[in-house]
Amino acid sequence: MTPDTISEPKVAEELNLFVIAQRQCDNAARYLPSLDPGLFEFLKRPDKLIIVEFPIATTARGVRNFVGYRVVHSRIRGPGKGGIRYHPDLTADEVRALASWMTWKTALVGVPFGGAKGGVVCDPKRLSAEDLRHITRRFIVELGDNIGPHTDIPAPDVNTNAETMAIIYDTYEMMHAGQNNLGVVTGKPVHIGGSLGRREATARGGLFVTRRALSRGVLPGVTEIEGLSIVIQGFGNAGSVAATLYHEAGARVVGVSDSRGGIHNADGIDPAAAIDHKEKTGSVQGLAGCRDVTNDEILTLPCDVLIPAALENQLRGDNACRVQARMIVELANGPTTPDAEAIFFERDIPVLPDILANAGGVTVSYFEWVQNNKNEQWEEEEVNRRLERIMNEATDGVIDKQVELNGSLDTLNAERVKLGRDGEPLGPVSLRTAAFVVAVERVARVALDRGIWP
Ligand code: NAD
Repeated sequence: MTPDTISEPKVAEELNLFVIAQRQCDNAARYLPSLDPGLFEFLKRPDKLIIVEFPIATTARGVRNFVGYRVVHSRIRGPGKGGIRYHPDLTADEVRALASWMTWKTALVGVPFGGAKGGVVCDPKRLSAEDLRHITRRFIVELGDNIGPHTDIPAPDVNTNAETMAIIYDTYEMMHAGQNNLGVVTGKPVHIGGSLGRREATARGGLFVTRRALSRGVLPGVTEIEGLSIVIQGFGNAGSVAATLYHEAGARVVGVSDSRGGIHNADGIDPAAAIDHKEKTGSVQGLAGCRDVTNDEILTLPCDVLIPAALENQLRGDNACRVQARMIVELANGPTTPDAEAIFFERDIPVLPDILANAGGVTVSYFEWVQNNKNEQWEEEEVNRRLERIMNEATDGVIDKQVELNGSLDTLNAERVKLGRDGEPLGPVSLRTAAFVVAVERVARVALDRGIWP
């Protein structure tokens, strides 16, 4: 089907991230007819939501009050694990969704963590570095023993970075002197227990997943990254490193964007020049030799691979028909809504889903945690070699599961009828649904083997 023949949905679609995350799970559970519905309900819902409120004496605007969240979705496979983001639009449901995706992501790549996420409702653009430091310290004190090296381990996310992680470590260390606390947080600066390769890990993991998926025939007629044209939305940790790594791998980065807008050059953009320009001016826009484009336009530029690496709900029912990319690699969490996903599926545009494509970050976070617990520092080559093996195995696992499910639809449908499960007959699955099936099966198996307590 061509973009012209697909009509855009008439009804505004559901954009609540937690509803979307639950729907993705429900969809996967339909392909697991023998999964106990009560157990599935338990796996799907978050274990714990913490809400804290606190004041900060800001440098420019007097005393301001802030709300912070931490959600632990699951600790079935290990301690909670997930980033902390600072954003003015953050909501509890967004954090719930992000925490649940962490559970499925850690299961998919097989690292021994559960899922968690957190954040503070604030606008870093309107706060000084000192305000942000105070917010971080106060947030961590308010969370108290809800985080810890063996209970729940934060990491960087939108608008937080290695420096924020250093402050989190320092604050926790002040409260728990006399023990090795390095493992309380990952994504730290390398000289404070961070892992070599962690800063690049999310994008590098995405590159490995792309390479493996292409070699497995996910995009017919394309077997390698070299020569592909790439557009990247978002130019922070995930997006700017992705631009560099895909460029180094021989791809042509033809468009990049940040919150102010984007740039396009069909002959290719030099990522180093874009990074330098953004550092000097605050945005990628205005880079010499490129045409400025809007945040809408960046998503619909002609290219082989579109990499959303900014925020959620960017590819929706109202713009998915206009996307010209042949494949999508989700470095951001939740960038594609279910309506957009259905359109891409119909149009044979494969989507390498977030819980696979951006799992390199949490994988190297796990390596960092292991190094911290053993007081070791691994060479970057070793980190990257281990990362590649894990990402390849996870990609193979998802593709194999897709093939397996699509080859056993008759059996699965017969089993559903026998068990009296409701709903439409099962159809072929996307890579996302296959990924969720792998992850839900893994978490369910551990939950059952551990036993439902007491
Ligand atoms: P970041 O804060 O470093 O960068 C975010 C970027 O997105 C910035 O360049 C910002 O200007 C841009 N942006 C914001 N709104 C935009 C818009 N409407 N259009 C275009 N650009 C916009 O954050 P990050 O750590 O790179 O995270 C980006 C995404 O990747 C998030 O979804 C995050 O959850 C996900 N992710 C990050 C990591 C990690 O290790 N940092 C790991 C896994 C997933």
